[in-house]
Amino acid sequence: MRALRHSSRHEWLVAGCLLILLALVASAIAGGMPNAELIPAQLQATLDQRGTAPSISADGQALLVDGGPGDTVARMHFTLPARTQRSDPWVVWVERKPVERLQLAREEWHSVEHGFFRPDPDDGPLPTGYVFALPYDWQGEVDLEIRAAGGMPVVLRPRVIGNAEAWRVERQGVAISATIYASLFTLALLALALFSAARDRLFMTLFGCATLTLLTFSAVNGHLYQVQGLRWLAGWGVQGLLALQFLLCASLPQLLLRYAGTRRAHPATARAIDIACIVMAALAAVCLLDLQPLARWLQSLAMVARGVAALACLWLVFDAARRRIPMGWPLATLAVLTIAASVARRLMLHGYLDNFPWLRSGDQLALAGAMAILAVGVINRISDYRDQRDRDQLARLDSERRMQREAARSDLNATLQSKLRSCSEGDIEWTAFHQLLEFLVPLVRAEKAVVLARGYHGQDVQVAVPAVGRAGAEALVGKRELSLKRHAANGIPLQQPVTVGDGGGVAMEALVPLPIRAPAWGVLLLERAGGEGFTTDELALAGEFVRLALVHVDQALTAIQLRRSAELDALTGTFNRRTIDQWLVRSFGEAERDGRPISVLFVDMDHFKAINDKYGHACGDHCLRVVAQGLRAALGDDDLLGRYGGEEFIAVLPARGGAAARMVGEQLRGDIERLALEWEDQVLGLTVSVGVATRLRDEDPRDTIDRADKALYAAKRGGRNRVHVAPAVFS
Ligand code: GH3
Ligand code: MG
Ligand code: MG
Repeated sequence: MRALRHSSRHEWLVAGCLLILLALVASAIAGGMPNAELIPAQLQATLDQRGTAPSISADGQALLVDGGPGDTVARMHFTLPARTQRSDPWVVWVERKPVERLQLAREEWHSVEHGFFRPDPDDGPLPTGYVFALPYDWQGEVDLEIRAAGGMPVVLRPRVIGNAEAWRVERQGVAISATIYASLFTLALLALALFSAARDRLFMTLFGCATLTLLTFSAVNGHLYQVQGLRWLAGWGVQGLLALQFLLCASLPQLLLRYAGTRRAHPATARAIDIACIVMAALAAVCLLDLQPLARWLQSLAMVARGVAALACLWLVFDAARRRIPMGWPLATLAVLTIAASVARRLMLHGYLDNFPWLRSGDQLALAGAMAILAVGVINRISDYRDQRDRDQLARLDSERRMQREAARSDLNATLQSKLRSCSEGDIEWTAFHQLLEFLVPLVRAEKAVVLARGYHGQDVQVAVPAVGRAGAEALVGKRELSLKRHAANGIPLQQPVTVGDGGGVAMEALVPLPIRAPAWGVLLLERAGGEGFTTDELALAGEFVRLALVHVDQALTAIQLRRSAELDALTGTFNRRTIDQWLVRSFGEAERDGRPISVLFVDMDHFKAINDKYGHACGDHCLRVVAQGLRAALGDDDLLGRYGGEEFIAVLPARGGAAARMVGEQLRGDIERLALEWEDQVLGLTVSVGVATRLRDEDPRDTIDRADKALYAAKRGGRNRVHVAPAVFS
């Protein structure tokens, strides 16, 4: 609402300035208003050849020429003062109206004959009236005959004034007309320039209207026919004038329709106005056919057209003002002024209003002013284009940013997926947070960023970008850990201005809590230099990236656990039989390829059933775990250990065969024997039997295992707690 009030204030300011400008020009032209030293004259009707008498106005000073065929004749009576008082000759001055012929006569004397469509080069370029010089020696009572013949009904108001006075009136008329023409000309040029700049047809309409108004005014004032190159237009006479008027009446509502966007707001009314305009344009075309029998009709229709156009324009501007179209109210004011001036002019001609030079052209001036205001309103459109362009640009930027974020999000997604898959378990959190920062920091224009997580999957993680090292990170969060933790518990992102560095520089700091389950907690801390805050969008993006990273961490950890549970034996944590079988195939393939030996050791606990029976299954399980640990400890890094079933373990020794494998078997056996395993304050003595088989040429795992099993059986048979090496062939 305030914006509206503001914009309308701004409009009135513009309109006010325009009017002040016009008033300045007007007062400059008006200068000294002629203090009309007028000889009162009285008009009397005279019967013409047709036997009809012309109408004389109520005050007896104006003659109504009916525009029919033949002359309209009237008598004019006045008294000239004695010659002695002044040397300035008297003239009869009649405002320039479209009459074919105008002449004064007295007995023998005949004045020059003036005609609207027969311009006299002596009249100058912009004559305002017809000047008839009276003989210098006339004084006393004068009785003049006025003869007028016109193509259309006009009102003539002859005045007897001094010659100097008459020329002052003429000069004033020139100035006023020149002002009107110059402003319309400028408007037309401006409209043309705007059209070429903005390519909006509205400006072309404005150009057309301004030009047409200029043409019509100059034709109505009779100036058009003074122009050397346009004199031929006089050939159409009154019909040409009517054609121009029809065209102007058709084009002004069209301009307003476009300016106010009425077609969209009131389509039905706009269509009615369109039809009226088309009719008027058609009438203009009929006028140009110059059909004499239609002349009278066309004159009456022109009057109707003026009325219709005036009403349509009034409705359009008031509707525009109501709909807050730029410059609507100032334009409505000027439209009313134009119509009022036109009415006043009529009243003046008929003698109901005093003769006032500005009123003679008042309607034209007001219309020129209205067009200027309309032009200002129309030019406002350019700011609309600018606003539209700005909006488009913003939208484009916005969608670009969104696309960039979308791309970053999917990149982060892909990167996390591939990086975390190949990560070792302990590095997953760190890697995920590091990637998160790498992607997020450029998008939110942060200079510094830290992810801090405490107790997350049992780990404390701290990642900073740019990397600040342990000491730097300590400095960054060390003293604030408590407040950060409190904030993390809040669960809502927040930002606050902070001072950074020793210089007391200002920065904006955003804290985005990590949504992880208590008692673990964590925050993402972003820092941007300067006072510019993070937008809601940026914080939302940070939150989204954080969630994405956490989801990937969880997924990666779950995947590791799953893999592990599929590979390992739940009780002992050694490989399960399936994994060992897979490894055996792979290791045998490598041994074959590299031409190196590989051995398989079968380890079986001795009399284990007795342990179970004597101490219970829990004790048996405990023994299995301890023995597995003992075996693992005795084996090298490259050796594999798995639980093959029950209380049987299998060890695979790559790159060792024969004696070396046997030595390992002995080592295992001895280590288990030396294990002093305690259960419920009793020391249990455990022993194992070991069967050793080294891969033979072209032998596959199945056969080697088979031989190791047989070797184990032999060891059992041999008394247990011993190592037996399988021969190449069992006999
Ligand atoms: P031998 O010296 O001939 O190998 O005698 P043994 O008693 O060890 O052999 P046997 O194959 O007869 O018994 C194996 C026992 O191992 C049977 C079973 O109770 C025990 N056992 C197998 N798997 C498990 C297990 O997962 N937990 C426990 N507690 N005992 C197991
Ligand atoms: Mg056993
Ligand atoms: Mg067994």
